[in-house]
Amino acid sequence: MTDMATHGTQGGRSIAIVGAGVVGAATALALAARGHAVTVMDRGEVGAGTSSGNAGAIVTGAVTPSATPGVIRSIPSYLLDPNGAAVLRPAHFFRGLPWLLRFMAAGRPKRVAAIAAALHPLVSNALQAHLALAALSGARDLIRPGGWLKLYASAAGFSASALERELMARHGVHFSILKAAEVAELEPRLNRNAYTRGLFQPDSGFVNYPRALAQSYFECARQRQAQYLQENVLALRPLDTGGVSITTDQATRQFDAVVVAAGAWSKQFAAQIGDKVSLDTERGYHLSFASTGDALLGRPVCFPEKQCVLSPMHDGISLSSGDELAGLDAPPDFRRIRALIPFARNALPGITGQAVQREWMGYRPSTPDSLPVIGRSPRCANVCYAFGHGHLGLTLSALTAQLVAGMLSGDPEPFDLSAYRIARF
Ligand SMILES: Cc1cc2nc3c(=O)[nH]c(=O)nc-3n(C[C@H](O)[C@H](O)[C@H](O)COP(=O)(O)OP(=O)(O)OC[C@H]3O[C@@H](n4cnc5c(N)ncnc54)[C@H](O)[C@@H]3O)c2cc1C
Repeated sequence: MTDMATHGTQGGRSIAIVGAGVVGAATALALAARGHAVTVMDRGEVGAGTSSGNAGAIVTGAVTPSATPGVIRSIPSYLLDPNGAAVLRPAHFFRGLPWLLRFMAAGRPKRVAAIAAALHPLVSNALQAHLALAALSGARDLIRPGGWLKLYASAAGFSASALERELMARHGVHFSILKAAEVAELEPRLNRNAYTRGLFQPDSGFVNYPRALAQSYFECARQRQAQYLQENVLALRPLDTGGVSITTDQATRQFDAVVVAAGAWSKQFAAQIGDKVSLDTERGYHLSFASTGDALLGRPVCFPEKQCVLSPMHDGISLSSGDELAGLDAPPDFRRIRALIPFARNALPGITGQAVQREWMGYRPSTPDSLPVIGRSPRCANVCYAFGHGHLGLTLSALTAQLVAGMLSGDPEPFDLSAYRIARF
């Protein structure tokens, strides 16, 4: 599975990809490497949206879905606390309600176990899939080892990770529980008063410049004749001939197949094909401090009790946070992430004198069951979906690309992909 085959059983098809986030860019490379004639369409630039501002973690042990019994119990407090990291904006309440109800249903213990089992083959192959694409594109230096570190200040906070530890153990994820002194060895510049222990997944990786990774994947696809059309895609339509037509604000064109990788905007395209999906956006924020990232942290560090991550990015430390259900159109609200600045400066004193140089918001494309939508449309076999990666879009992009390239090249499924089908909605 982790081998990046550069030949398919069926190369040479004309395939359009709607969306040039990290999922679309990786898919462009995986398809071009198999000899397909790829056209990527995006109204913006490659990797410039949500895929540019994430926390950079490739979390190979992320088998715990967002909805768990503990999270479900906390929903009322999230809804009532305007400063909480997770929020449902009142104006989005009725639109967001069906998604939220499905999210709550996904948090039942039986479902959590099934979702974890479905996440495992994805996340456990994620880093190797990136390394395979990076080997083609020369982006190897952008993908770093270093692991994924979560830090807890209180005993109660650590206890709340019991389910996560249980699921990781069940699926054979390597992790260790670190004492404060061991955390200090790994991350000496963190303030010792910000944690009492840690949870460390050593096999996870890290990208300190996520947009450059997407760009490098696409550039390599371009060297393999992939085209880029900066156009607004309006409509997909299956053709009687078996192909698919795409209408943009500029033209209508026909392709043998289309991959929908439009992140949080993908639902409209599925609807045009006749497929229903529950997809909302969990908006997330980051603030970027002007320090030299690498000098202060060796890896992204997550503080679950504060629901935030500090990451050493190429242009400084970034503080990311926020799960905001507010839809695609509401203006950003930076108040909650700004409120975390004192915490961040205490946890990492090296950023104390550093000004905030950027405030950013992105749109996680989230399904209520934390599983992406990967696979062919049941209504049109030449439309393939690759969206809904939620909190794990960077992590899962390269593997999704491999799976989609395999499907559209006629390869057998490398493992059971039924859990990711759009028909589950
Ligand atoms: C604060 C934050 C932190 C995160 N941290 C991590 C992390 O550490 N690790 C991780 O794995 N994931 C993380 N994520 C999640 C990750 O960033 C996303 O899941 C991922 O970027 C989604 O990629 P995508 O390619 O599906 O979507 P996008 O990057 O949103 O790309 C979709 C593209 O489709 C285009 N598009 C949409 N509609 C149209 C149209 N009509 N016509 C033309 N183009 C269109 C858009 O312009 C966009 O470029 C984080 C997200 C946030 C917000």
